[in-house]
Amino acid sequence: MNSELEALLIVQQDDERIRAIEARRDALVPRLVALDKARQRVADEATRNEAALERELERLHVLEARMVEHRQRHEKNLAVLDQAHKLKEATAALAQVEAARKVLADEESELLGITRRITDLRTAAILSRGAIDTLALEQVDARTAHAAERGSIDSEIADARVRRERSAHGVERTLLVRYDRVQSRRNGAAVFALSADYACGSCDTAIPRNRRPSMASGVVIETCEGCGALLYVDVARSTA
Ligand SMILES: [Zn+2]
Repeated sequence: MNSELEALLIVQQDDERIRAIEARRDALVPRLVALDKARQRVADEATRNEAALERELERLHVLEARMVEHRQRHEKNLAVLDQAHKLKEATAALAQVEAARKVLADEESELLGITRRITDLRTAAILSRGAIDTLALEQVDARTAHAAERGSIDSEIADARVRRERSAHGVERTLLVRYDRVQSRRNGAAVFALSADYACGSCDTAIPRNRRPSMASGVVIETCEGCGALLYVDVARSTA
């Protein structure tokens, strides 16, 4: 096997190692996504509770202002009733007093309902804020482990890339560019040995007869017409 090809096969091995480490790194992603999702869920819950509490406080505010106004009107109605001399006047004033009393009674019960909801929502808001802190604590170990694993994989990748760069020095530039193009397109192995009957080691397409003699020396690297892989003759095996 010529040294150029040997060097290229080492680069390919280095690339395979990089891809394997990258696959381990990618496999870590779902764990982090799950942690983030869980955190998002409790944060959303807290936001919903706080928004509901805000809305209820606003309703309370509006209702209280309305009740102040209605109480004042009720006082006035009572005064009018007090001063009514004629029966007709007294009947009309009494009707107004009764109506206002009914409105106030309805508002009192609405107030009670709102006050209860506010109490419940305050409790829920406190609980959901607490849940955020609890979950953050619970996730500390998982996140630390994830970060450590990620860090060590990243440095493994960096080391593997340095090693690959060193290996690539041994390959002639044109061949390396050709190889890089093929391997990035395939996102996998690019160089394959031909089988004994000159078929592509990747897709099994046969190399045309007229191109075989030049390859027999093991120096010429051809491109497979079927799958674009780079093909070579394994001289050691073919002479064995
Ligand atoms: Zn092929």
